[in-house]
Amino acid sequence: MSGHPSRDGWYAAGEVDCFPVPPPRERPSRLVLLGAPGAGKGTQARLLCESLRACHLSTGELFRAARDQCASSPAMRAAIEAMNRGELVPEELVIAMVRERANCLRCHGGFVLDGFPRNQTQAIALDEILAELHIAIEAVVYLELPQEELELPLEEIVARLSGRRTCVDCRAVFDLAANPPTRSGVCDYCGERLVQRTDDQPEAIRVRMKVFEAETLSLVEFYERLGKLVRISASGTPEQIRDRVLQGLDRNVSEVAT
Ligand code: AMP
Repeated sequence: MSGHPSRDGWYAAGEVDCFPVPPPRERPSRLVLLGAPGAGKGTQARLLCESLRACHLSTGELFRAARDQCASSPAMRAAIEAMNRGELVPEELVIAMVRERANCLRCHGGFVLDGFPRNQTQAIALDEILAELHIAIEAVVYLELPQEELELPLEEIVARLSGRRTCVDCRAVFDLAANPPTRSGVCDYCGERLVQRTDDQPEAIRVRMKVFEAETLSLVEFYERLGKLVRISASGTPEQIRDRVLQGLDRNVSEVAT
């Protein structure tokens, strides 16, 4: 969709090379995206990767791909069941999966990491993996929902997320109310089928919101203390938010450089 190399290396844990190999960047973007369910992480990851010509690395997509391929290892089956309920999968598994994909992190094309880390243990593990690779995260972008959306009743948030549809092929995300596809059920970008994520069902959404507050939200402060956090208001169109992120990153880079 973006003309970016395939993410075969990410999906196949380094056993397959991406094609074409991403061209080297003088300063590859290495970003982490944080945001509550519904803040638009997946959409922003896609737009940012197009702008920065980096690779979208999503841990959630690894579990969805494993589910679609009917992965049969007991550990993966348990992980998929946890995902369908909206819970986090066990962290030993997710950390091992990211570790196996170290080549994607060191890739000279850069990356936008979406969905990892999700708690402090994972953040520390990521730090260790990056230190072993002698690379560092440029910034952690926190997509912050506007106050009025944070105050919405849970029912309304659940209703909104229930309208989300994802392309089975290129993973583009649509919203039936705010950003519907041109043709019902069909992806505007690649023409493939749109589906509803199993964890976009009301009960799983409620669990995901709670998990975000209990586990992931503390990472905002964690990365703020490290001087890595770039806070971005997640209101407006996807393109407006993307532009805000790009400006925020420029400012962050110049602040770090001075
Ligand atoms: P996402 O696509 O990032 O919303 O992730 C979908 C689901 O995959 C999550 O609700 C979790 O069940 C699982 N998952 C993805 N990334 C992680 C992670 N870093 N740690 C634990 N579970 C994860």
